[in-house]
Amino acid sequence: MTTKALNSKNEALFQTLKSIGNQSKKSYVILELVNRQLKICYCNELLYDITRFTSNDLINKSFETLFSNENSSVLKGVVENIHKGELFKEDLLLNIFLDTPILVDVTIIPLQIEKGDGLLSLLIINEFSHNHLEQILHRIEEQIYKAIEHECTLVKKLQIVCEGIEELLNGRTVSKIFIRKSDNHKEIQMVMAQKYGLEEPYIFRRRADIHYLNNMIDQAELNIYENIDYQTIDECTRRVIEAKGLTKCCTVPIENHVNKRIGMIVIYFDNIAFDYVERYKAFLHKVNNLISLAYIYDQKLREISFLAYNDVSTGIPNRLGFLERLKELEQKKIYGLIHIIEPTEFAEVVELYGREAGDELLNQLCRKLIMLQRKEEDFIARFSSSKIIAFTHHKEGEKIVDFSRISETLVEVPFIIQNNPVYITLKCGVAPFNGEISYKDSIRFAENAFSEAKHRAGNVLVSFKGDMDGKLKRNLLISSLLTKAVKNNEIEVYFQPKVNLKDGSISSIEALARWNSPILGFISPFEFMPVAEKTGLVREIDLQVIEKVLQWFRMREENKKTIVPIAVNISPEHFYHPKFVDQLVELVRKYNANPCNIIIEITENMSLVDLKKARRIIRELKFWGFRTSVDDFGMGYSSLNYLQELSFSELKIDRNFTMKIHEKGTYAIVKAIIQIAQALNIDTVAEGVETEEQARTLNELGCDTGQGYLFYKPITIKEFEENIEL
Ligand code: C2E
Ligand code: CA
Ligand code: CA
Repeated sequence: MTTKALNSKNEALFQTLKSIGNQSKKSYVILELVNRQLKICYCNELLYDITRFTSNDLINKSFETLFSNENSSVLKGVVENIHKGELFKEDLLLNIFLDTPILVDVTIIPLQIEKGDGLLSLLIINEFSHNHLEQILHRIEEQIYKAIEHECTLVKKLQIVCEGIEELLNGRTVSKIFIRKSDNHKEIQMVMAQKYGLEEPYIFRRRADIHYLNNMIDQAELNIYENIDYQTIDECTRRVIEAKGLTKCCTVPIENHVNKRIGMIVIYFDNIAFDYVERYKAFLHKVNNLISLAYIYDQKLREISFLAYNDVSTGIPNRLGFLERLKELEQKKIYGLIHIIEPTEFAEVVELYGREAGDELLNQLCRKLIMLQRKEEDFIARFSSSKIIAFTHHKEGEKIVDFSRISETLVEVPFIIQNNPVYITLKCGVAPFNGEISYKDSIRFAENAFSEAKHRAGNVLVSFKGDMDGKLKRNLLISSLLTKAVKNNEIEVYFQPKVNLKDGSISSIEALARWNSPILGFISPFEFMPVAEKTGLVREIDLQVIEKVLQWFRMREENKKTIVPIAVNISPEHFYHPKFVDQLVELVRKYNANPCNIIIEITENMSLVDLKKARRIIRELKFWGFRTSVDDFGMGYSSLNYLQELSFSELKIDRNFTMKIHEKGTYAIVKAIIQIAQALNIDTVAEGVETEEQARTLNELGCDTGQGYLFYKPITIKEFEENIEL
C-alpha cells in the first residue's frame, strides 16, 4: 500500500525495504521523506494489529502519529539521524489506539540511492514483549544460581540483578540496590552494576546516613519520581546518571520471604519508560524474589559459618574458631601459651542445675577471663562442653604471668548459678606455643598437662613437661591391662594403721589398693586410680577392697582376735553412684559385719558442689551405722564451707600440711582446722607423719590420730597378721 507513485528508483528501494521488513517477522513501518517531513508510506499487518490503528489513521500521516512525542528531543534525534542516513536503534513509545503507548525498541534503516533522491526508511519495531522480559529474568536467575554455586558474595549477586535491569531497558537506565547488611539495620550497602567501577560495595556507616536510608527503605513504595533531587544522590551515582542524562527515577522496595523490608532498588531513567511500573511489576516482583533468595542464602551462609566457628550457648568462638585464629597467629609468628581450663565442678553443676547452668558457668568464667585480658592478641574459646581454651601472647624473654594467681582471683568470688552462689576450683593445663611446636601439638600438650592437673585437688595449674606425652601412652597401656587385672583379682589390699598420738595404740587401719601387674610390675594407686576412675573400673576395685576387708573381719572374729575399724577409700565417681549405699549395705550383710567398723574415706577434692546429694548419702551411711572421713582435707577450695553441712565422723589433714607443719603459716592453718573439728565434734587424723617432731607438734595442737611412715608403712594383710598385735 504505497502512498503515491514512487519513482522507479524509489520503487525498487521500497521493495527492498519491504522484503527486509518481512524477513524480520516483526511489525514494521516504511517512512518517506516528503518536503522535509517524514511521512508513513507503508505499515505491515502486524503493526496494525498491535496499534489497532487502521491504514486511514496512519498512511500519509506524519511519523509522529505513530510515536508519542512525550519526549520530543528523542523524536528530533530520530529525524536528525535519518537525515544523516545512519542506521541506528532507539527506544520509542508506540501509540496505541485509545490506549497508553507502549515502549518499543526500534531499528531504523534509512536508505537513499543517490544524493537528492527521495529518502526511504525502514523502522523495524521490536516490542518489549513478555518474552523479552522472561528471557532477561531467566538469565538473571541463571546467573544468580551460578553465583550461589560458586559461592560468590551477595554483592556479586546484586550486581547481576542491576546489570539485568539495565539490559532490559537497553542501557538507558542506571539501577542500584540498597541492602541492609543485618537484621539490626546498622549497616547498609549500596551496590551498582560492576561496569561503574564501584568495585567494593559502598557501605554506609554514618549514623545520619543510615537513619535516612533506613527510613527510605521502610517507606519505599513502587513509585516513580518525575524529578530527581541530585543533591541527595551520592557522588558515584550522580556522575553516572548525569552522563546518561537521566532525569527520573523509580523506587522498588525489596522484601524477604516473610515480607520484611531488606532493601530497595532505585532505577534511574529518562522519559521513555513512563509506563514502567505497570508493565514491569511482575518482572520487578520476580527480581525481588531473586534478591530475597540471594539475601537469605547469604544470611544462612553467615549463620552457618558463625555456627561453625562459634559456640552458640556462650557466644564465644568454639574449638574450630580457636584453631583458625591460632593458625593465623602461627603464620604471623605470634607466639605465647595455650591454656586449657575446666571448672572442677562442671559436671556437678550440670547434674544439679542442668545443662544451661553449665553453659552459664563457662559464660561467667569467660567474662571474667576477658576482663583480665592483658594483650590485644589474647583470646579465648570454648574447647569442649566443659573446657575453655585460652591463648595468651608472650614475646620471647618476656616475663610470664602467673596464671595460678589469676585463677585464684577468678574463683575468689562465687559464681552465681540460678541465683545460687557456687564456689568452684579450676584445673588448668598450660603448654608453650612457639616456633618449634606446631599449634596442634601445643594444644595436645596443653591437654596432657590438663589431664595431669585434673587429678590433683583444689586450684591446680600444670605446665607441660616433655615426659607427659609418654605418660599418656602409658595411661592407655594401664587402662588396657587394668580390666583384666580386676577380673583376675590382681588388686591386693595393704593395711596402714592409724595411731593414737597420745599412747601410740592402733585406733584404726586404712585399706589401700595395690596392683602388682605381671606385665608392668608394681603400679602406684596414684597412677592406676585415675585411670580406673576414667574407665569406670574404680567401683569394682573399691568393692573388691571392701570385700577383702570384710573377709579379714570374719577371719579375725573366727580366730577371736581384736578388731579395729578399717577405712576404705571411695572415689567420687563411686560415692555418687546411685547404687553405692545399697551395694555397700548388701556386702556388709553378706559378711554379717558391723557397719560401725567401716570408715568410708572420701577425698575432699571430690567437689561437693552437690551438697544436697552429698548430705543425703552421708546421712544414709550414718543411718546404716557407717563412719565417714574426709580425706586430704585442706586441699580443696571451699573446705570449711561444707564441713559444717556434712556431718563427717573424721577429718584427715592432708599430708602436705603435715609435711610443712614447722612453717608458721601452715602451723596456724592446722591449728585452726583442729579447733574447728573439735568444735564440730569431728576426730582429726594427720596424714603422712614421718618425723617425731611432726607427731609431737600435732599432739600438742590436739590432733587425735596420726598416720604415716613414722608409725607404719602400708603392709600386706599377711604381714600385718604376722607382725602386729592389736
Ligand atoms: P590416700 O587415701 O591419701 O592414701 C594415703 C597415701 O599416702 C597412700 O598411698 C599411702 O601409702 C601414702 N602414705 C602413707 N603414709 C605416708 C607417709 O608417711 N609418707 C608418704 N610420703 N606417704 C604416705 P597409696 O597407697 O599409694 O595410695 C594413693 C592414693 O590412692 C590414696 O591416697 C587414695 O586416694 C587412692 N587409693 C588407694 N587405695 C584405694 C582404693 O581402694 N580405692 C580408691 N578409690 N582409692 C584408693
Ligand atoms: Ca585415704
Ligand atoms: Ca589422703
